Amino acid sequence: MRIRPYNFFAGPAALPLEVIERAQAELSDFKGIGMSLMEISHRSKEYEEIHDETQQLFKELLQLPEEYKVLFLQGGASTQFSMIPMNFLVPGKIANYVMTGAWAEKAILEARKIGDVFISASGEANNYVEIPSLEDIQVYPQTAAYLHITSNETIAGTQFHSFPRIKNVPLIADMSSDILSRPLDVSQFALIYAGAQKNLGPSGVTVVLLREEIVRNIPENLPVMLKYDTFTKHNSLYNTPPVYSIYIVNLVLKWIKQHGGLVSLEKRNAEKAKLIYDAIDQSGGFYTGMVKLNSRSLMNITFKVHDDELEKLFLQQSKANHFIGLEGHRSVGHLRASTYNAVPYEACKALTDFMIDFQKRYG
Ligand code: PMP
Repeated sequence: MRIRPYNFFAGPAALPLEVIERAQAELSDFKGIGMSLMEISHRSKEYEEIHDETQQLFKELLQLPEEYKVLFLQGGASTQFSMIPMNFLVPGKIANYVMTGAWAEKAILEARKIGDVFISASGEANNYVEIPSLEDIQVYPQTAAYLHITSNETIAGTQFHSFPRIKNVPLIADMSSDILSRPLDVSQFALIYAGAQKNLGPSGVTVVLLREEIVRNIPENLPVMLKYDTFTKHNSLYNTPPVYSIYIVNLVLKWIKQHGGLVSLEKRNAEKAKLIYDAIDQSGGFYTGMVKLNSRSLMNITFKVHDDELEKLFLQQSKANHFIGLEGHRSVGHLRASTYNAVPYEACKALTDFMIDFQKRYG
């Protein structure tokens, strides 16, 4: 049998093998209906069960308070960059953003097309190697429409390890690359969004968790598909949802539940990341991490080899040894190992062993 590669892609990314196999087993005959789930109406009982159960699983895993809704949208997290200011940045208000790197910047650029933006804190001066400290985040509550953060910067490899709390200012977070990787007190947030293709499932569905009251004053004249209340009013069934993506998310959430939920995932994710960070830190400078220790991401580990030629060789040899997706993002280069929920501990151990062995041979 061909070995399954050690998959460190940043997204789309590894899915649990059990999920892939279950999907395969149900592909041509979903629960005895003689057809695939992709071939039946989104108004059918079979699909509605999946839809509702998936929302329920989010509620259960995150212990969502009653007043939160789980929505399934399309257009990726990138569409949320525009929808958030379109829905909440009303005239007279200012949108506040923490600038942590490439993804925060994209969100900010979209918000500026809609209204006034204030940069509440920025890591730009030190090249985004650190998440700004919470005390340095400035917001003026009287005028603030919301405060937006990117909980995990997938490209830089930084992550918020605690969140700002600003009285009377709704907190909005792009959690595309760390949602469900750890327990979370959702009540701190007015809205959380995530493209599914890292920790939740395949691309095609964007999950939004929101406190229902924030959709009360949405401008009437927005396009119907760009208004959050279209999705809250119609339980994300106003039009055809991405049924197959949602089905795979359903299987992934069940897999998370079976594996002990978010508390156990957090522990496993920390162990996985520690293996790789230790290999970096104990290499005596052969490898170096790209970000400050206090801001290191447990999902995207960015690092480099001390010599560019050796780094090329590292990538070449790692590929030959079944490690894939280790190239850093094209905008920053170097190396990145993405260790999302579905990346097994064994893959991280194998990578660590490979790193140590590579250093022995070329260090
Ligand atoms: N935000 C973050 C933090 C991301 O990592 C990404 C994708 N890599 C996006 C937003 C954009 O997501 P999408 O491709 O789903 O639009």
